Amino acid sequence: MKEFSFVIVAGGQGSRMGGQRKQFLPLRGRPLWCWSAERAASLAGAGVGEVVLVLPAGESRAGPLRGAVPQPWDENAPIPLRVAEGGASRAESVFNGLLASSFDYVMVHDAARPFAGEALLRRLMEATSETAGAVPVLPVADALKRVEGGEVVPVDREGLFITQTPQSFYRPALIDALRAHGNGAKDEAEAWLAAGRELRCVEGERLNFKITWPDDLRMARALAEGESLSQRTGLGYDVHRLVPDRPLILGGVPIAESPLGLLGHSDADLLTHAVADALLGAAGLPDIGNLFPASDPAYRGADSMELLRQVVDRVHGEGWRVSWVDAVIQAQVPRLNAHLPEMRQRLSAVLAPGLPNCVNLKAKSAEGTGDEGRGGSMTCWAVAALCRVSGVGMDGEARP
Ligand code: MG
Repeated sequence: MKEFSFVIVAGGQGSRMGGQRKQFLPLRGRPLWCWSAERAASLAGAGVGEVVLVLPAGESRAGPLRGAVPQPWDENAPIPLRVAEGGASRAESVFNGLLASSFDYVMVHDAARPFAGEALLRRLMEATSETAGAVPVLPVADALKRVEGGEVVPVDREGLFITQTPQSFYRPALIDALRAHGNGAKDEAEAWLAAGRELRCVEGERLNFKITWPDDLRMARALAEGESLSQRTGLGYDVHRLVPDRPLILGGVPIAESPLGLLGHSDADLLTHAVADALLGAAGLPDIGNLFPASDPAYRGADSMELLRQVVDRVHGEGWRVSWVDAVIQAQVPRLNAHLPEMRQRLSAVLAPGLPNCVNLKAKSAEGTGDEGRGGSMTCWAVAALCRVSGVGMDGEARP
């Protein structure tokens, strides 16, 4: 598989945006460049190995960014982000970005196009080889005129295409082409063609428009903010007595070495109960005592992880998705730390199967205080965060 560096050119001074440097303007809370960086990171393991962000000259070590890794880039992202210093012209900035890149293939992208889609990036990678570069193009849709000295002349749009970015190349050949062409190229494809190389065209995307004028930014915001994200948090709490001759089950994990277990109508898995109540609280639903009453014989000895599955279904039914759960168990005995990773994994698999590790757990001793400190009971507190997307998405689908 070919591996690509994804170079984001963010070195401009924003002269057509009234001096505002558009690459740093926020779009739903994130600077424009970050949208493309996150898109590239979504192809980690599928051909994109790093992001190279070319910042305005002097900006990578000073100015508002100051650090080596600009915020809000997530340092735990699946691919690294390198910063390169921009030059006096776009061509020079691209050149510096290419020199800072580590892979043989490269996609060069404008920071001002935040909506390049994953399918487009895949088409470009597919079309690029050592001898052929690839660019996204779209047929011109509007009627064209040439206006010169007060004279208006119709221009036939047949065969005319607009060129977008990312533009995708074999990096050593692009470096040679840019060196030979100098600073005058409007885009990398121009220098590539001047070097006598083959250029393939792939279908571009209408939403991959370039934010150049203030109206473009209004359009981008309308698109990005058409989807709004709601978030809710909920709190759950549970307590059970610790008694002999009962199994101890926490987060669906049997703790076989414990001589004591929790007393209850179901399997008394108090961690799972607290988590379920946190979820129900965040979704504005009744608690598990109401949904699965202890007076109902159907729940005698019930598997609490199964009840949690039903709770997650109800939460999903309200349009919510689990984004995070944090819980703390207070227990003098037994020591639980060795079991926490498995509890996390089992809970995560039920709460959000597509999201690895959406659960954090802690175990605290009671420091010998109170009933928990005497080993007579165990308590648990949990908080859950849910999110729900509403409005009209970028795919045009209405969200509830
Ligand atoms: Mg309980």
